[in-house]
Amino acid sequence: MIKFLPLGGADDIGASCFYLNISGTGILLDCGTHPRKKGIDSLPKFELLKDLPVDFVIVSHSHQDHIGSLPFLVQNIPHVIVYSTIQTKEIADITLHNAANILAHNQDGENQLRNYTHEEIDLLVRSMRTADYNKEFVLEGMRHNSGLPVRIMFTDAGHILGAAGIIIEHNGEKIFYTGDINLSSQTIMTGADLSRIKKIDTLIMESTYAATESSKLGSWQSELERFTKQANLILHKGGSILIPVFALGKTQEMLASIYALMKKGSLTETNIYTGGIGKDISALYDRNRYLVRRKSINLELKEIPQINLFDVDDYNFFKKNPGIILASSGMMLEGTTSFRLLEYWIKQESFAVFGVGYMDYETPGYRIMNSKRGDEIRLTEFRAPQKINCGVERFFFPSHSKREELLELVDYTSTKRVIMVHGEQSSKDWLGFNILSRFKDVKLHSAENGTEIRWGNN
Ligand SMILES: [Zn+2]
Ligand SMILES: [Zn+2]
Repeated sequence: MIKFLPLGGADDIGASCFYLNISGTGILLDCGTHPRKKGIDSLPKFELLKDLPVDFVIVSHSHQDHIGSLPFLVQNIPHVIVYSTIQTKEIADITLHNAANILAHNQDGENQLRNYTHEEIDLLVRSMRTADYNKEFVLEGMRHNSGLPVRIMFTDAGHILGAAGIIIEHNGEKIFYTGDINLSSQTIMTGADLSRIKKIDTLIMESTYAATESSKLGSWQSELERFTKQANLILHKGGSILIPVFALGKTQEMLASIYALMKKGSLTETNIYTGGIGKDISALYDRNRYLVRRKSINLELKEIPQINLFDVDDYNFFKKNPGIILASSGMMLEGTTSFRLLEYWIKQESFAVFGVGYMDYETPGYRIMNSKRGDEIRLTEFRAPQKINCGVERFFFPSHSKREELLELVDYTSTKRVIMVHGEQSSKDWLGFNILSRFKDVKLHSAENGTEIRWGNN
């Protein structure tokens, strides 16, 4: 008997955490936080684990919406054993420490979380066990009641460095959890490796971009051409371009893309500003370049000339020293560097903001990307409206699969059951409708936080 209970990340994107009970062995797939929510609301519904055995956490990748709540889980269940790829563990060592710093600054009012210390993070990261891609390992929990093992394997999900899809095999049943998966290649990352998932019984799949028409997403190549054209217009007039990016993944992909365009001579040579943990993560991309599947093995991000963004105190500096600024957070959340820059940018006529990645609705990034020069905008709910003087351009450089690719995955894996997670309702509606109309024999579930799904015998 297999029981699947989502604690978070079933109905939207954030706080991914899925409980699986396989013959008495309790496994959590991911343990994330919600980027838009604060305090206890940002965590998965851990209270649902009260009477359940929890033996293992398997982390698909190091984005905060998949790993951010791990320190809180470990505070309450210290004996839990955590597995990830080696690269995810290395990245976690940077991002979890960074998250602790942010949390210490952002605690306000009720609903507070007990903060964790850097020593706790050190202990947690040191105790994380790792496995290579395509190398099977076995799990057995305290209350395992079957003579048959639970076998696990990581497969390359193509999303960011270290990202894995997770194969779980027990008693003839093969489950595949996609984590965040990208079937297409980006500038650095190669598309997901599907070689191990040809025959799957149950597919737990993300649906991030299922509601988005693929013509809107374009391809990396066509988006890079459009990006170059728009960027040159701004740079030729001496303007600067702010690109909000996730420190992990999008920073490295955009940095590599921009540099390649400049080398080719199509994009005007200009200063590139980076900083913060994005730089530390870039070093991990460099260090792992021969160890993981990559499109450009020889590219070293540290060889790309960059100016430290955190050396700039007065943003008027960018008027005299224009350039392209890669700053986190990707959704321009209040209090982050990209948000502070945006407050300055919005007043500058010759400057522009370029959106390049996923933005959750209601975030400042979403608000600016759904506006244009001349509009009045409230950057957050509680701020006075402001006029946008700068240019605003929206690009899509997806690190998630397009909607057709998600359907391709259902087809390729010949799965009998699909559980949709990690998507807004509109995404799951589109995906569900198309799965049901194309694959008549597939049993479909739209996962809901707190609602258990069971299958299998005994
Ligand atoms: Zn991700
Ligand atoms: Zn995610």
